[in-house]
Amino acid sequence: AEEVGGGDKEVVREYFNNSGFQRWRKIYGETDDVNKVQKDIRLGHSKTVENVLKMLKDDGSLEGVSVCDAGCGTGCLAIPLAKEGAVVYATDISAAMVAEAEKQAKEQLQAGSENVVPVVPKFEVKDLESLDGKYNTVVCLDVLIHYPQSKADGMIAHLASLAEKRLLLSFAPKTFYYDLLKRVGELFPGPSKATRAYLHAEADVERALKKVGWKINKRGLITTQFYFARLVEAVPV
Ligand code: SAM
Repeated sequence: AEEVGGGDKEVVREYFNNSGFQRWRKIYGETDDVNKVQKDIRLGHSKTVENVLKMLKDDGSLEGVSVCDAGCGTGCLAIPLAKEGAVVYATDISAAMVAEAEKQAKEQLQAGSENVVPVVPKFEVKDLESLDGKYNTVVCLDVLIHYPQSKADGMIAHLASLAEKRLLLSFAPKTFYYDLLKRVGELFPGPSKATRAYLHAEADVERALKKVGWKINKRGLITTQFYFARLVEAVPV
């Protein structure tokens, strides 16, 4: 069954404040205490971040551009965005994640060798459903994997309502191969399998965007052995 009732969000919050925090902090970090699968996911995810930065910069400099990073995790995207001069508002449902992101930002954004003086991101503990305001750009990476499509529809609509120019989303694509791999291997191995992973069909994401008057104008696909992400940039029609 796809649905587990209304509890997904609380389960996800609890997970990312505890075992999920420990697991993903390692994966998103740089230390050597990761296994082969985690190392591969780290590589895939870093490619996604690179792709996002490229997509965003292709449309011009990020200096002074407001960006909302919804579900920011440990700040893997928020920090490089700040280095590019973007004015970043980064939020996450997990207080542990936000604390880690703030710590990382402090360490990495000391006035240094960058061309532009980074504006330290504003971090806040907030689930993306309760975000408000308007931002030039809204980004939400690898978050939809924690929610079924029925919930993702509403999340996508809400994120689009916050964005003036563009919305970037990444999600695990529902393709036959990936579906099979997931069923066989499970991408959330070990005791931290507390949350399940939901795959999303690109057509479903596209339909959710279309419903609120948005369309996809750029696509990327990032794959390593254990990491699969479809990256889309959507804009108002
Ligand atoms: N976006 C970050 C990145 O790519 O580095 C983190 C990705 S991590 C797999 C998923 C993150 O989404 C976790 O930090 C989790 O706490 C956060 N999250 C899950 N559900 C959320 C929600 N409803 N609102 C905000 N953040 C959420």
